[in-house]
Amino acid sequence: MTEKEPGFDTLQIHAGARPDPATGARQVPIYQSTAFVFRDADHAAALFNLQEVGYIYSRLTNPTVAALQERMATLEGGAGAVCCSSGHAAQLMALFPLMAPGRNIVASNRLYGGTVTQFSHTIRRFGWSATFVDFDDLDAVEAAIDDNTRAVFCESIANPGGYITDLDAIAAISDSAGVPLIVDNTTATPYLCRPIEHGATLVVHSLTKYLTGNGTVTGGAIIDSGKFNWSNGKFPAMSEPEPAYHGLKFHETFGPLAFTFNSIAIGLRDLGMTLNPQAAHYTMMGIETLSLRMEKHCANAIKVAQWLEQDPRVAHVTYAGLPSSPYHGRMAKICPRGASSLFTFALKGGYDACVRLIDSVNLFSHVANLGDTRSLIIHSASTTHRQLTEAQQIAAGAAPDVVRLSIGLEDPDDLISDLDQALG
Ligand SMILES: *Cc1c(COP(=O)(O)O)cnc(C)c1O
Repeated sequence: MTEKEPGFDTLQIHAGARPDPATGARQVPIYQSTAFVFRDADHAAALFNLQEVGYIYSRLTNPTVAALQERMATLEGGAGAVCCSSGHAAQLMALFPLMAPGRNIVASNRLYGGTVTQFSHTIRRFGWSATFVDFDDLDAVEAAIDDNTRAVFCESIANPGGYITDLDAIAAISDSAGVPLIVDNTTATPYLCRPIEHGATLVVHSLTKYLTGNGTVTGGAIIDSGKFNWSNGKFPAMSEPEPAYHGLKFHETFGPLAFTFNSIAIGLRDLGMTLNPQAAHYTMMGIETLSLRMEKHCANAIKVAQWLEQDPRVAHVTYAGLPSSPYHGRMAKICPRGASSLFTFALKGGYDACVRLIDSVNLFSHVANLGDTRSLIIHSASTTHRQLTEAQQIAAGAAPDVVRLSIGLEDPDDLISDLDQALG
């Protein structure tokens, strides 16, 4: 009998979580320790030379965080994973080993507002730049890639416009250009979409959202497919001798784990964007019920979106879960189990009606977050997407007459009643 790969529901509970070798504790303990004792001087030297894997100091590695890393790698179908202090830290850490001054990335113009800001302004201080293009225009994506491009970046389900990326088509383009495809899978989670199966090289996450799932943690993760050829001449940090490790070559030495080892041994060591073990524990608690929550998030979102779509006060709803969405067909290919629970709708009353609605809801919380058990509401144009120009706001699906909802796990009829009374 061949061994069958366990299902998602099994892996979300068991991956990375063995009984504690010291105590037999069934739940992964919170190893709240900065440092770990070496067996002897040889052991310490081997760990520092990356000749043996183990724990030195929690800025680099920690057993609780390592359990979460293993769980994330398993759920995404990757070779390895690195956790870090936030979703934005994950994006910087994903780019760090690939980039150098003068290099660029080609990014979708439909991205989380904070990511647009990070890529438009902040990364320029490192001498990096981003070219934003419409990822539905495959010729434009191809044309935007030049000799200095070192990554292609998009979201599987883009926050907040109800947009789904044709990952397979984008992966084919980045593959033939010899650059990695990085996919932000925060909104979908690995339960709804596994980007590596569609050709992604690296998957980045904000653990802050659906993965932890209850608005308690800020965290991030990068999962490596282990499939990219880092020795194609474009990525010296991965293929050339590393002076800070006695000339070690990451790709040659670690093969499919090259990115993961580089990200821990250099990224976490020198950038220090570490996830703390307490946060890793909360996130693992959340992931144990990920599939159950995502099913309910999606079912609630469809009910609320359908109700809004037929309401005369509403101009339109952008949710890929609705048959009327232009991205509904792509959902069947990229995220057949559902389109997550984040969507926007426009009000006929424009900006003023949006502000009135936000100030009148009782059950929805007005916060700048998503992927919580609680339903959340925000007017993106005056908050999360405020730093963007109006053209960028419209491209990102956050025009001034648009409200964003993150549908939680409450009774959907109560959510509909709340919106109904607040729409006045
Ligand atoms: C929230 C979010 C991020 C940033 O994550 P933080 O944990 O807040 O740093 C990145 N991408 C998407 C899609 C997000 O929703």
